[in-house]
Amino acid sequence: MTRRPRALAALAAAIGLALILLGFAIRPPAPGPPPDYAPAPEVSIEHDGGRPDGESGGETGSERSAPTLDERLYSAGALPAVDCPRPAVGDTSADGLREFAENAVDRCLMPAWSPALRRVGVRLDRPVIKIVTTAEASSPCGPMSSKNLVLAFYCTDNATIYLFTDGARRYAERADWLPMTVLAHEFGHHVQRATNSWPVDDAASTGALRRTELQAECLAGVWFAEGKDNIRDFALGPVLGRYVGNETHGSVESRRRWFRAGFESGDTDACRTYTAPADRVG
Ligand SMILES: [Zn+2]
Repeated sequence: MTRRPRALAALAAAIGLALILLGFAIRPPAPGPPPDYAPAPEVSIEHDGGRPDGESGGETGSERSAPTLDERLYSAGALPAVDCPRPAVGDTSADGLREFAENAVDRCLMPAWSPALRRVGVRLDRPVIKIVTTAEASSPCGPMSSKNLVLAFYCTDNATIYLFTDGARRYAERADWLPMTVLAHEFGHHVQRATNSWPVDDAASTGALRRTELQAECLAGVWFAEGKDNIRDFALGPVLGRYVGNETHGSVESRRRWFRAGFESGDTDACRTYTAPADRVG
């Protein structure tokens, strides 16, 4: 059942030279999930930051109708408070970044998201973390380069978060906890994977994918609503100041809006980007 990627190539072409802060790639998970696991739709959507040799065509520029979504994500609501020890980068060596990322996932993100999703019948498995010390990463979702300010990306084929050390260091120089915003966003894609919350359309437009990205931003905000209490010098300024606008991830204004929507409500129900008016997801 491969409703495969007419969209993929079109999308890649459409993305073109967009400046990417956070990349992601989404494909169906491996077969054979446990019985209480919510399987992802059989759809393949990939965003790899743009392939100049991608086929053109298929991108109409119009927004697709609202995709079928798993409402369970929205009814998950608020995340429980977690006691995660200082989700910040202590040292910026590759080992230090690995330690930060493992700690953030195991003690900050999983303990918050897993019970919230379990409440609504969705099992969340731990994602894999790969620390990438080179400028190029290969993954089952395709290659990814840290050029154009790509900091991290998520591949659904292997449920793996890839974190580029260079980008994480840049963020850590601004605030030692700022890389947590990157992990919270990528973890948002992991949550989307578990709840089917991405466009289930084989001709997903850039606009539809932007809604996916902005929803991940909102989910990051939902985590920070509670998680910020673990961050001694947390401030909203560095979070909102980090955004760079681009076609795929949305304008700076949109990205800030959706992070704030999650952050200020602390509720996944605020993350309905797929049904938001077009001017809210530009
Ligand atoms: Zn993303």
